[in-house]
Amino acid sequence: MPLERSWIESANSPETDFPLNNLALGVFTADGVQRCGVAIGDRILDATGLEEAGLLTLGDTPVLDLPFWNEVMELGPEAWTALRDRLKELLREGAPERDIVTSLLHPMDGAELHLPFAISEFTDFYAGRHHATNVGTMFRGAENALPPNWLHIPIGYNGRASSVVVAGTDIRRPWGQLKGPNDPGPRFAPSARFDLELELGAIVGQASDGTVTVAEADAMIFGYVLLNDWSARDIQAWEYQPLGPFQAKATATTISPWIVMRAALEPFRCASPAREVALLPYLEEPGPMLYDIALEVDLTPEGASPTTIARTNYREMYYSSAQQLAHHTTSGCPMNVGDLLGSGTISGPTKDSRGSLLELSWGGKEPIPVGNQTRSFLEDGDTITLRGTAQGDGYRIGFGPCAGKLLPALADPYAR
Ligand code: MN
Repeated sequence: MPLERSWIESANSPETDFPLNNLALGVFTADGVQRCGVAIGDRILDATGLEEAGLLTLGDTPVLDLPFWNEVMELGPEAWTALRDRLKELLREGAPERDIVTSLLHPMDGAELHLPFAISEFTDFYAGRHHATNVGTMFRGAENALPPNWLHIPIGYNGRASSVVVAGTDIRRPWGQLKGPNDPGPRFAPSARFDLELELGAIVGQASDGTVTVAEADAMIFGYVLLNDWSARDIQAWEYQPLGPFQAKATATTISPWIVMRAALEPFRCASPAREVALLPYLEEPGPMLYDIALEVDLTPEGASPTTIARTNYREMYYSSAQQLAHHTTSGCPMNVGDLLGSGTISGPTKDSRGSLLELSWGGKEPIPVGNQTRSFLEDGDTITLRGTAQGDGYRIGFGPCAGKLLPALADPYAR
């Protein structure tokens, strides 16, 4: 599919993340009020204003009067299509409503952005084979890198929706209970091995009560965001057996401010990697369920320039979000509108395609260059920025930057 041209000239640039083909959804502040917005070129279209003006009608009652996109999700896939069709009518080259729509445009540069949806619950997976192999090799040796269940089941844990924040939110280095391999006992201290995880987040746009197939799960996904699963490796190493990560992952999870709808990613679908072990039938894919999305991680030390520390692609995943969602329902677990599923860290096969510092520095043994500094794990003042783009014919689909800055730990919170 070629570029769909808009009367907003900046949306026709091959350099923008937000051509008419994308129509990413967010929440922004206009005149002191949070409103639903649509990214278009270097502008934000006030979608709440469109609805108020009678230019966009999706339900019997207003669905954009509250500053999140959940009500639109609840209307279901037909409304999702109607939303995109109507936005394209209003924004395409030659659209007759140009004057009134112009009055609802705001500059994206400097706009205050908020969480684009109310997050019901958050589940994070461990579904990238290169990541699981790298981490397993470090923790258990190359022979036992992948746990025996890994090629059969998308491993996950139930996270905390309350800790999900929008890009631009500062992250505070956490304290926690730590015990290094040579420490005589545990101690309570700031995490010294604080890390990022490059992931994609899938947003569940339809509720389920009972099991769903992979095809049904795919149809339930409203869209995707970039996701940084901040991880305290030293807390994780001490706490994770036998129930998995807990406080190591509970400080914060950053998501991009813009939801890229599943429909915008359709041209970029691609197949999963080859599997030497067949999946159980309920996990088999009815078609290509991954996407060709180029991903990169920038690390910017305080006062320095950014260095790209990793480049990879979402097509490297072993299990798709649709498979993860289908698996999530096998127990009968009800899924809700606004549930967020983290893909798991997306690493590629090469050293420079690893999606966490744990892997990039090989557990701290091989610090990586960052400008004229080096890093094993994050230092105070570091900013991590994730980017994701799907390259089309003369256009690209992006999520906008997903950035977060690490602030120093506070003084001992339990000191008397
Ligand atoms: Mn993760």
